[in-house]
Formats: sequence, structure tokens, C-alpha cells
Amino acid sequence: MTQKNVVVIGAGVAGLTTAFLLSKRPGYKIVVAAKHMPGDYDIEYASPWAGANYMPVGVRGTQAAEWEKATWGPLENLARNHPDAGVHFQDCEIRTRSKDLGSATANWFSELLSPNPWFKDVVPNFRVIPREELGPGVDSATSFTSVCINTAIYLPWLVSQCLKNGVIFKRKVFQHILETTKPNVHPSGYVDLVINCTGLMASQLGGVEDKSVVPARGQIVVVRNDTGGKMFDVSGTDDADDEACYIMMRAAGGGTILGGSYQMRNWESQPDPNLAVRIMKRAIEMCPELTGGRKGIENLDIVRHAVGLRPVREGGTRVEKERIGNVWVVHNYGAGGAGYQSSYGCAQTAVNLAEEVFQKRAQL
Ligand SMILES: Cc1cc2nc3c(=O)[nH]c(=O)nc-3n(C[C@H](O)[C@H](O)[C@H](O)COP(=O)(O)OP(=O)(O)OC[C@H]3O[C@@H](n4cnc5c(N)ncnc54)[C@H](O)[C@@H]3O)c2cc1C
Repeated sequence: MTQKNVVVIGAGVAGLTTAFLLSKRPGYKIVVAAKHMPGDYDIEYASPWAGANYMPVGVRGTQAAEWEKATWGPLENLARNHPDAGVHFQDCEIRTRSKDLGSATANWFSELLSPNPWFKDVVPNFRVIPREELGPGVDSATSFTSVCINTAIYLPWLVSQCLKNGVIFKRKVFQHILETTKPNVHPSGYVDLVINCTGLMASQLGGVEDKSVVPARGQIVVVRNDTGGKMFDVSGTDDADDEACYIMMRAAGGGTILGGSYQMRNWESQPDPNLAVRIMKRAIEMCPELTGGRKGIENLDIVRHAVGLRPVREGGTRVEKERIGNVWVVHNYGAGGAGYQSSYGCAQTAVNLAEEVFQKRAQL
């Protein structure tokens, strides 16, 4: 069999999951080449900053929902059978306040907030919480069992799975996508296929320059406080249309993430201290267990403040193939706030497209 030489640009959750799934197929020699690798923290690298949990937002009947549906099984399997991946089960509660209807956060969460979402038969233990059990100010709520991923463990775990399958990792910065075909990138000196997983920076990579990819700025506070094993999400806040309130505890001592914000087209990398105070106040109000019922943000034990940029693409995640110059490219970028919860679905589609490219070549 002729060796299939592939370069994956990007070592975020999209690039690593795609490389992992592709490396299970026979005949591939894969290089993952990226500016940032797991262990780095940088504003151009979204994956380390994510919570990350599985709270589907893809609207029923869309490709986004299909990708999320396809991702639940693999994540559940990791939580159940692979403790070394840093993924654990958590029960979650999703609260809706009627007054948030139409806000940026409520629009983003529209499927998640539905009492009858497509994923009710996918995740375990979905139920609509009876009215008499709702807290003050909450008009409706649902609960189900989900997962939370410790990204500091999970991203290196993906690297280790790729390494086991013979994938090569390299630090590279590309100004143009065709620079991946230079002889010093792939050990064979030749590249058949490039897989573009550059996230937000697909907006700047020469040959792609997809200006429909923009940041949705997410500010978080990581604390040592415990939620008592639950995750929370609410439809909006009283503070600003593009602020959010969610809480999740990462697996294996990864800390508790207090979020957040969803600030479109905002590239600011530094935490806003006023927003941080609002995030912490809202979190304690939503989950008093965090501080053992004590009021006041001084009862939170802060690990760090952080900001990440979700790579949002108008029209949704781009997973498609394209001929650029003399080389086939499969794109997998622009997952916005759903990069983990759609990772296996998107990566599988990208792998199928890669296989199509090589099948066509075999027929020539
Ligand atoms: C605060 C926050 C909370 C989130 N919570 C969740 C959540 O709970 N659940 C969920 O599913 N998702 C969540 N997300 C979204 C998720 O983090 C992203 O969708 C996902 O990380 C995007 O991954 P990616 O691999 O596409 O991009 P990235 O992680 O940004 O990786 C891009 C890669 O491409 C490389 N690269 C880019 N350009 C070049 C170049 N020119 N040359 C070489 N290398 C290049 C970078 O170095 C990097 O390795 C959250 C995001 C944020 C910010």
C-alpha cells in the first residue's frame, strides 16, 4: 500500500482528535504541526481554557446537533472506562429565566434550555424539574447526567494516544497553508493531504483567511471550591446581555470553573477584574454549596483568572474538503463554544473526507 502522507495543522482538541482517529486507519503517516501544543496557555489557543463539558447547543435537525450526538458515545466511554483521560460524569442542572429570552446567551443556549431537546434520549437521566422544586427567579429547568473534561489531562492524553499510533509532533508556524508542503515538514518530504485545524487563526492563515471566524471571548475564574458534584448553567444574567453564568468541576483535581462571558468580536486577552467579580458573585448565588452557604466572594479560593477565545464561525463549523494549489485540504475549524462536545463527530467527518481524497487518488 502506498503511504498516505498527512500534515494536520493545529494541536487543539480538533487537530488532536482528528489525528487520533485518522491514526487508527491503516497506511497513514501523520505529522501534527502547530504553533501551540498542550501545556501552552495562549490567547490564540482556545482548547486549554475550555471548561470543558458536554452541554449540547446544536439546534435540532442541524449538522451541529449531529456532530454533538456522535460525540456523546466516545466521551461517555472515556468517563466510564478510561480514568487516565481526565473525563468524569457530573449531573447538571440547566435553568431558564423567562426574562432572558432573546438575549445573546439565551439564543446561544436555545436548544440546551428547551424542555424537549433532541439530546434528551442521548444523555442519561434527562428530566424536566417540577415547578415546585424550582428556586426563586427560575421559570423552568431540566437536569441530566453529562461529563466534564479536565483539559490539562485530556489534551496530553490525546497526544499520548497519537504517539502510540506513530503520529509525529512538530512545532511550526505557517504563514500560508501551502508552507506545509515544504520538504522539512513531513519526514517523507512530500504531503498528500493537509488537515486544517487552526481554530480562530483560520481567519489569518494565508490561503484560507476565513473572515467569518471571529472570537467569542470567554472569561473564567478557576477556584478550589467544590460544587458537591454538580454542574450548573442558566439562561442569562442581570448584568449584561453577553455575560453568562455557569459552573463545572473538572475531573481529577482540575478545579472548578466559574464562567463566564460570550463577548463577540472581542480579542482582549487580559481578564477584566470587574467582570471577574460579577462572575464570582453570580456563581455563589447560583450555587451556595461552593462556599458552604457563606456569602461573599472572599470565600472563594482562587487558582487563577483566565480568558479564552471561542472560534465562532458564521454558518457553523467548517468540515469540508477543498483543493488549494496542488494539494487537497480537509478543513475542521470554527467550532465556537462546542469544540469538545462536537469533537468526535467533526473529526470523524474530517477522517471520512480524508479517506475520500485517497480513494479518488487510488482510482486514478
Ligand atoms: C472559556 C471557554 C469555555 C469553553 N467551554 C467549552 C465547553 O464546556 N465545551 C466545549 O465543547 N467547548 C468549550 N469551549 C470551546 C472550545 O474550547 C473550542 O471550541 C475548541 O478548543 C477549539 O479547538 P480547536 O482545536 O479548533 O482550536 P484551538 O484550540 O485554538 O487550536 C488551534 C491550533 O492551531 C494552531 N495554529 C493556528 N494557526 C496556526 C498557524 N498559522 N501555524 C501553526 N499552527 C497554527 C494553534 O497553535 C493550535 O495548536 C470553550 C472555550 C472557551 C474559551
